[in-house]
Amino acid sequence: MTCFAQVRKRPLNKKELAKNEEDIIETLSNSLVVHETKLKVDLTEYMEKHEFVFDAVLNEEVSNDEVYRETVEPIVPIIFQRTKATCFAYGQTGSGKTYTMKPLPLKASRDILRLMHHTYRNQGFHLFVSFFEIYGGKLYDLLSDRKKLCMREDGKQQVCIVGLKEFRVLDVETIKELIEKGNATRSTGTTGANEESSRSHAILQLAIKRSVDGKESKPPRVVGKLSFIDLAGSERGADTTDNDKQTRMEGAEINKSLLALKECIRALDNDQGHIPFRGSKLTEVLRDSFMGNSRTVMISCISPSSGSCEHTLNTLRYADRVKSLSKGGNSKKDVLSSTMNLKESTAQPLSLGLPTASTFEDDINDTWPDQNERDDFNAPEDSFEQEKLMWKKNGKLDQYGFSTAENKLRKPNGQTKWKEPVRSDIKHSKSDDDLNALLQEEEDLVNAHRKQVEETMNIVKEEMNLLVEADQPGNQLDDYISRLTTILSQKAAGITQLQTRLANFQRRLKEHNVLVSSSGY
Ligand code: ADP
Ligand code: MG
Repeated sequence: MTCFAQVRKRPLNKKELAKNEEDIIETLSNSLVVHETKLKVDLTEYMEKHEFVFDAVLNEEVSNDEVYRETVEPIVPIIFQRTKATCFAYGQTGSGKTYTMKPLPLKASRDILRLMHHTYRNQGFHLFVSFFEIYGGKLYDLLSDRKKLCMREDGKQQVCIVGLKEFRVLDVETIKELIEKGNATRSTGTTGANEESSRSHAILQLAIKRSVDGKESKPPRVVGKLSFIDLAGSERGADTTDNDKQTRMEGAEINKSLLALKECIRALDNDQGHIPFRGSKLTEVLRDSFMGNSRTVMISCISPSSGSCEHTLNTLRYADRVKSLSKGGNSKKDVLSSTMNLKESTAQPLSLGLPTASTFEDDINDTWPDQNERDDFNAPEDSFEQEKLMWKKNGKLDQYGFSTAENKLRKPNGQTKWKEPVRSDIKHSKSDDDLNALLQEEEDLVNAHRKQVEETMNIVKEEMNLLVEADQPGNQLDDYISRLTTILSQKAAGITQLQTRLANFQRRLKEHNVLVSSSGY
């Protein structure tokens, strides 16, 4: 399985323009730079640049038609050849996920029907559509008045959504009506339009089925599937601290599903034995789309404005983690991609740069010849390379930026050294689990640190205000003392909390023999 990672930047909207917000995203053909304004402790500003490389970067001038041509069009033909393809829109609410995703299924259906009526004429192929939503961990049918659905796993670990309406479509007009109906049902949910859609994942699936031996009497079998997933807003992490219990739980559920999705894509991309599908409803539902021949396209949508900087960086870091780590088993490229991850990490003084699953895997492959089955799956990879060439031919993607990445590769700058895993220490699936857990813990730690830095900044601002007030004539000493006391204990608590977290993480790394030296050189 290969994940094709794209970023789409939307234009500044009226509100942002009215607030005079700046466009902080500089785009190149397949890389982009985020210009983040930061404050020093003395409150003077400085600029930090974050560079990211993806398979493609679509800027604000790229139309929806071009998005279709670059992301979905190349994969339509392969779903007639036993392949499942999944296209995700990821990003914070308001970044353009729905805008990007909405036109894709209809365009794809048009192409599918065209192939069915020409290339695959009279070969017993049928097109089916279904459209549902995952909201608060529950499934609702968007083509059947939001009927609540259950999910069941059969003996063969096949996930089946009981009662999901699936419509066979013969022409573009019918599918257009169905898609519009589903979209309308989605946006008129119980609590109203945008709020609800930002908290749910919408999943539209186009299934290609074929009657066995061309006989119409038997139920047709699924040949391939194309899924379009408009994910819940990625900023939902903030909800986990909300006072409303319902909101908090929904936020936690969304976090969990986005995290599980990332872990599944990474695990599949590395051909890891254990895929953590059970991590969430979303990944369970998508299980069959990820098995066998599969393709994933992740379109990460970003807002260009300075006000969205933090969310944008979070989105890009997520996208960076799901982008393909191994293409065609070429280990040089593997190193390259993981170095690019490290590079992004080192650009961030806050990130630890735990080696990614792929570097770990590669180490195993290097020292353990019998694990080298990865070389066997060249055929699908080749066809993917060809698809990428098609993408390339579309104009914008004339280079992949490997050269810049390679330059970076020559100056490794990691602060930590990683021990080669010892052959006898490793049980394959156990190490996968451990590694996933470790990666998760790393991410939690870095997030906690980031949050702590933000809090510190806020506290510092408060302290500066307090100092200004203290200088005013007639200042109340009582008030000053009590506020300073609160501030100092807030600072101390924050530091202690982070120290505990860090110590725990170090202990965990030691347990797993990952870290050779934690104190640098
Ligand atoms: P999300 O689904 O991520 O919450 P939307 O797709 O609803 O965000 O987009 C938010 C707003 O921005 C909408 O009004 C949409 O029309 C507009 N928008 C998003 N992307 C673009 C784009 N590439 N070009 C023009 N307008 C856009
Ligand atoms: Mg939306």
